[in-house]
Amino acid sequence: MTTSKNNGIGLVSLGCAKNLVDSEVLIKQLEYSKFRIVFEPKTLHHIDTVIVNTCGFIGDAKKESIDIILHYAEAKRTGKIQRLFLMGCLTERYRHELAIEIPEADGIFGVNQLPEIVREIGGEYRTKLLGERKITTPPHYAYLKIAEGCDRTCSFCAIPSIRGPHKSRPIGEIVSEAKYLAETGVKELLVISQDTTFYGIDLYGRRRLADLLNNLAEIKAIQWIRLHYTYPHAFPFDVLDVIRDHPNICNYIDIPLQHISNHILRSMKRGMSGNKSRELIERIRNTIPRVAIRTTFITGYPGESENDFNELCQFVEASEFERMGVFTYSHEEGTPAYQLKDNLPEKIKLKRQAHLMQLQEQISLKHNQKLVGKEINVLIDREENEFWVGRSEADSPEVDQEIFVRKTGNPIHPGTFYTVHITEANHFDLLGEIPV
Ligand code: SF4
Repeated sequence: MTTSKNNGIGLVSLGCAKNLVDSEVLIKQLEYSKFRIVFEPKTLHHIDTVIVNTCGFIGDAKKESIDIILHYAEAKRTGKIQRLFLMGCLTERYRHELAIEIPEADGIFGVNQLPEIVREIGGEYRTKLLGERKITTPPHYAYLKIAEGCDRTCSFCAIPSIRGPHKSRPIGEIVSEAKYLAETGVKELLVISQDTTFYGIDLYGRRRLADLLNNLAEIKAIQWIRLHYTYPHAFPFDVLDVIRDHPNICNYIDIPLQHISNHILRSMKRGMSGNKSRELIERIRNTIPRVAIRTTFITGYPGESENDFNELCQFVEASEFERMGVFTYSHEEGTPAYQLKDNLPEKIKLKRQAHLMQLQEQISLKHNQKLVGKEINVLIDREENEFWVGRSEADSPEVDQEIFVRKTGNPIHPGTFYTVHITEANHFDLLGEIPV
């Protein structure tokens, strides 16, 4: 049965920004085939088909995906919708199990099957739309996926087995997509992939992230280019110079370190030692003035001793990262670490996560207090009660802190940059006003 054109297709996109980009490409294709797409539907009114783009990375994310699938399977069983399609990382990883467990699903697709999904729904997949997508983020910022998959072998990570080997997109294709996004009004590009620093090795036989960033920086309508998911091992230092030398590339770098203890880093197969990590952070700070470094750590990895954890705490206190996230270790079948004994109780993993975030709370407050009385460039994202909410160059959407700008009655436009005078600092956000 094909979807009637009057009725809509609800699309639910779970997981990371890389998955979101896939959803945006799919929306563009389906809308071009004259389907009406409701992104993240709040109700099922006028919707007879639902697509769930799933996440299958770690325990919590898998649970969320399964809960949502079951919700729509129930909706199908009770006739609220006629068709249900599943795609993404969870289905790539557990395709057979889901086919048995979710008989309500009309189609189960993996991660690189957009043409099949479009056809199955009754549309026509058009290659001419390559590089075009329907932005679901606020119109002034967008994610730019530069590659798919990963060639690394981090022992805790299932992504290479889900998304396959690293596959860089050609520079020309990425630049034309960035130009297309700029023409639609995008001012901030968030450069993403599983491993951005690996960019180019498969396609050009050498690292070409610096070249790519140089090309993207030529697009003057793009005022902020933000680099995410860099990998510490064999870090391409020319990238640091490019970030420093281009005013429209944010002095911001997202570099997940995961841990600092040699014993844990070795077991994680990160290809880095604690000292190499310290040297890299120092080099980044010495090369890019006022750089904001975002990193993430894992607590409770198999075999993480009190000493390992204390070393991590000392590193966090000494490094004073501007932005930091902490995940608890998730024992994932199919990963090398699954052979190890997941010997730390969940409550210890969570206790260590909370402790690290408490340390970071004080560090973040210290960074924020330095900005009180200063004026900073802020991109306004939205209105919220008596505030306009925005971000500085040091804040990536969804993951970092925000700046709450008091309303003064002057017209303010989301998607516009303003100079904001910072009046107050909290642990994880700032308050300010736009000088009249
Ligand atoms: S770099 Fe490591 S953690 Fe990141 S996606 Fe690749 S294997 Fe996973």
